[in-house]
Amino acid sequence: NPALTKIGAQMSNLTGVRAIMKDIIETLRAGAGQQFINLSAGNPLILPEVEQLWRDCTAELLASSEYGEVVCRYGSSQGYAPLIEAIADDFNKRYGLNLSDRNILVTPGSQSLYFYAANAFGGYTNSGELKQIVLPLSPDYTGYGGVCLFPEALIAYKPTLDIDATAHRFKYRPDFSQLSITESTGCVILSRPSNPTGNVLSDEEVKKIAALAAPYDVPVLVDSAYAPPFPALNFTEMMPVFGGNIIHCMSLSKVGLPGERIGIAIGDENLIHVLECFQTNLCIHPSRYGQAIAARAINSGALVEISKTVIRSFYQNKFTILESTLDATMPKDLPWFLHRGEGAIFAWLWLQDLPITDWEFYQQLKQVGVIVVPGSTFFPGLQEEWQHKQQCLRISLTGTDEEIATAMQRLAKVAEEVYQRA
Ligand code: PLP
Repeated sequence: NPALTKIGAQMSNLTGVRAIMKDIIETLRAGAGQQFINLSAGNPLILPEVEQLWRDCTAELLASSEYGEVVCRYGSSQGYAPLIEAIADDFNKRYGLNLSDRNILVTPGSQSLYFYAANAFGGYTNSGELKQIVLPLSPDYTGYGGVCLFPEALIAYKPTLDIDATAHRFKYRPDFSQLSITESTGCVILSRPSNPTGNVLSDEEVKKIAALAAPYDVPVLVDSAYAPPFPALNFTEMMPVFGGNIIHCMSLSKVGLPGERIGIAIGDENLIHVLECFQTNLCIHPSRYGQAIAARAINSGALVEISKTVIRSFYQNKFTILESTLDATMPKDLPWFLHRGEGAIFAWLWLQDLPITDWEFYQQLKQVGVIVVPGSTFFPGLQEEWQHKQQCLRISLTGTDEEIATAMQRLAKVAEEVYQRA
């Protein structure tokens, strides 16, 4: 084995959800013959209309002279010009913006975008000062846990909880009495809609966070992997927020192109330039085939249309099945709380005063053939003790209707037994 550097050793660790995925893959392998309902996936389902869209765009591309240009040529490190133009045109019209090509960067998936930002803005400055990467509302996307070369830079804040006890629902809000953004903040990152909770911060909350960061010229990355206009996985009204220190970050992964790796950043040209240089050093530029078909789907309007009419309703319906099954089967006297389903492709369940840990609960669910993700993996950067971290589960909405209903019935039974035994 080669000797590893500090960074080498750290990057060889499986962090967050990847560690759980290993356990899940081994469970599925070992349990050959046993039928599991696997609600752990972050992989969206393949919807026929979505697959057809990409087939059609690919057929058009193949039939055009553009094909050779796209796959047989290096490109600009900023991204494929027709895609950048398509986004600028669409967003300028849709949101009344004034974007030029200099405001846009295309990256190989949005995960890489957070890696660039975390290390360009977070970590040690030339004078040895540590710039923090702030996650203003924990829990948040587990992938932020691994993006920083200096993990001590990552810091997350506990939220406040709006609880509706009779309805068994709750919602996280940023705790502005605790949230600290100062000259030692390097950047802020948050997902909206949120993976894992399905929370959507209000427009005002986003603007307030951006305003706290503005005096220090701190960029705020709003991870919009589930936001409108595509994939439009918001079940509540929300407006994307642009301008100033906000870097609006998008992904094509939830509109059927996770394998093509396309992320998009929109923001101030100086910030975009920093990220573009990082990208040039790292990988020159993202692959262009996916970008070429994405440009077609945006220009024709089909991508936005399918997002609104197919993708959104598909997952919203899954959430309705999940919540109505829990309402019907979870014991009324137990302190269970489902996070308000405002978007994304997950449900987030909080079992208050759970007598065992989330990891143990996950193991018991496996015994009845149901796989979810224990919630404690979704608190990257939150060091402090908080029992809530061991009381939550993320349930993916990527099962069939029957699978989701059956899984929630089994979960209700396990929950009843677990609380009774205590
Ligand atoms: N951000 C959020 C909130 C996500 O849920 C995901 C993937 O699940 C990503 C970023 C990474 O997406 P990608 O790198 O495929 O664009």
